Amino acid sequence: MADQHDDYAEIRAEIRKLCAEFPAEYWRERDRGAEYPAAFVKALSDAGYLAALIPEEFGGSGLPLSAAAAILEEIHHAGGNAGACHAQMYIMGALLRHGSAEQKQRYLPGIATGALRLQAFGVTEPTSGTDTTALKTTATRDGDHYVVNGQKIWTSRAEHSDLMLLLARTTPKDQVAKRTDGLSIFILDMREALGNGLTIRPIRTMMNHATTEVFFDNVRVPAQNLIGVEGKGFRYVLSGMNAERILIAAESIGDAKWFIDKAAAYAGERVVFGRPIGQNQGVQFPIAKAYAQMRAAELMVREAARLFEAGQDCGAEANMAKMLAAEAAWAAAEACVQTHGGFAFAEEYDVERKFRETRLYQVAPISTNLILSFIAEHVLKMPRSY
Ligand SMILES: Cc1cc2nc3c(=O)[nH]c(=O)nc-3n(C[C@H](O)[C@H](O)[C@H](O)COP(=O)(O)OP(=O)(O)OC[C@H]3O[C@@H](n4cnc5c(N)ncnc54)[C@H](O)[C@@H]3O)c2cc1C
Repeated sequence: MADQHDDYAEIRAEIRKLCAEFPAEYWRERDRGAEYPAAFVKALSDAGYLAALIPEEFGGSGLPLSAAAAILEEIHHAGGNAGACHAQMYIMGALLRHGSAEQKQRYLPGIATGALRLQAFGVTEPTSGTDTTALKTTATRDGDHYVVNGQKIWTSRAEHSDLMLLLARTTPKDQVAKRTDGLSIFILDMREALGNGLTIRPIRTMMNHATTEVFFDNVRVPAQNLIGVEGKGFRYVLSGMNAERILIAAESIGDAKWFIDKAAAYAGERVVFGRPIGQNQGVQFPIAKAYAQMRAAELMVREAARLFEAGQDCGAEANMAKMLAAEAAWAAAEACVQTHGGFAFAEEYDVERKFRETRLYQVAPISTNLILSFIAEHVLKMPRSY
């Protein structure tokens, strides 16, 4: 696919080169065995790409969000999956924006070199789901520690991370003025907590995502690991969500490009009834339509990143970018499956694997309905529905 619209041409070329070391068979094998792509994540960390957003003073490259988006997009366009490590890019933002000078010095240089992995983000809980402020995990002050009790679910990469950014309630809901108050975020050192009240259980999923459920039974976290002001954690988490949405949207754009390339190439090669199937408009049109959808979504991703980098409010654009990109990827995935006919279902074509992987982004990190609710309420000023 022509890439005349691409920014960060050099970074993209380097990522493509790195990804070429991890061809389709690498991802197929990991998928088959539900194995974490450790070698890929190490290569990406060693090359400094996971530290793209960390300021230079802490050992990162201090690049803007759109550079990180280009990195993640290229990984997905190359047939890989950045779900194994993307969180490091956006979780780090909470520490960078709201952490103390001492906390930044303690963690960021290690994260930048890859010596410290900050890949786990503990927000979602089994009983509260999208209604985050109803979460039940508590952190209770006890001298110079907090004691954490509760449970998280879908805490991805917990088994492959040293640190977790944890959201817990520090003041009971009935004692705060607003339900968004009384929540706090902590850097939890899982190396210390494992065996000391922290239990991690993997969840098998339809794609290879290393996700888990995590149980806290009197886990002690030093008070110095509280980020920012106690009770303001929900605000801090929200401030990082726009970055997360823009980066995930970029991954979906990469997926869409992979499906479109793959479908168009196959349509040109596969001969049935004595001519390439791609000569039939019935085969061409879904691929062409997915391309148009992808390009429109890509423009929204870029607009959201532009606003983010200018320090302007980008909540609506980041949400719309995530929704449109995930839908464009899904349209491209559908077209790719249909174009490949029976071969779409054969593991060796990779279509079925990418098909399973790309479906996630209409649900996580936020589902489409909640994005539509956001637009209805905050952009169109309709009544709040929940
Ligand atoms: C593979 C995977 C990895 C994940 N990784 C992480 C992670 O690392 N850290 C983390 O904290 N979380 C993670 N998540 C959780 C993810 O963010 C949630 O699954 C997602 O936000 C949806 O929440 P839920 O599953 O509880 O759905 P629910 O909140 O139970 O919602 C179920 C359905 O109901 C709809 N719905 C709910 N309320 C409304 C409403 N008011 N109006 C309209 N529709 C509504 C939703 O849109 C959704 O379609 C992950 C999830 C998955 C599947």
